[in-house]
Amino acid sequence: MHIGCHLSSTGGFLAMGETALSIGADTFQFFTRNPRGGAAKPFDKADAEALNAFMDAHAFAPILAHAPYTLNACAADPSLRQYAQDVMKDDLFRMDHFPHAMYNFHPGSHVKQGVEVGVELISLHLNNILHKDLKTKVLLETMAGKGSEVGRTFEELRAIIDRVELDEKIGVCLDTCHVFDGGYDIVNRLDDVLDEFDKVIGLRRLCAIHLNDSKNPMGSHKDRHEVIGGGFIGLDALVDVVNHPSLKGLPFYLETPNELPGYAAEIALMRSKER
Ligand code: FE
Ligand code: FE
Ligand code: ZN
Repeated sequence: MHIGCHLSSTGGFLAMGETALSIGADTFQFFTRNPRGGAAKPFDKADAEALNAFMDAHAFAPILAHAPYTLNACAADPSLRQYAQDVMKDDLFRMDHFPHAMYNFHPGSHVKQGVEVGVELISLHLNNILHKDLKTKVLLETMAGKGSEVGRTFEELRAIIDRVELDEKIGVCLDTCHVFDGGYDIVNRLDDVLDEFDKVIGLRRLCAIHLNDSKNPMGSHKDRHEVIGGGFIGLDALVDVVNHPSLKGLPFYLETPNELPGYAAEIALMRSKER
């Protein structure tokens, strides 16, 4: 099982690899810069290469870079859309230094413009930032549907992908808390939900799983993560997720409310439940 958690990037790239290994993980997720936006630290190429060597030595699964969640590719204000484009272009330029990495982002919030306009602007955004030499796969995250978030349904993600020219560069990251919050019953009908994902988007697009429990019942659209087994999804359903034949080879990233010891315990727990 490939599993890790979200880690702070303040100590640098290699330090995240070492932290991951120390808590029993073989991958991790990190923010490319302050999640609330702003300038990124200057890129430390030697540190990036040290992490790559470390990942090779310890047989890590691909790591997942997460874009700042304040970026909005479908903002109504053109200067905010431009900002999202500039930041993601810069992030992807940096990501080229990591041969085993993916880049995940929240599609955006349509802020009263409607889902159709949102979908149109997000695909335009992707067509502006993707280029044919890009090595890093860009993942659209499934969203909880909080406020005017686009990507609450598989159909919305499909509609975005359909409009992207270099669509082979696009994948999907399924967040268990978000899809459950979005109204998909992964507790009682995991097979049906994955069938639907396959029919609408295609399971070959699914590249990563955010493994979270949820503080709220199915369909709440609140996006509040809970520790594994402490929420409305529950341990049994999450064990089914990591063992599902369509999912078990994918990397799982915990984004549960934990410090490192809590993450270590959840990683050990999930590993102990591998069938
Ligand atoms: Fe996210
Ligand atoms: Fe997530
Ligand atoms: Zn979330």
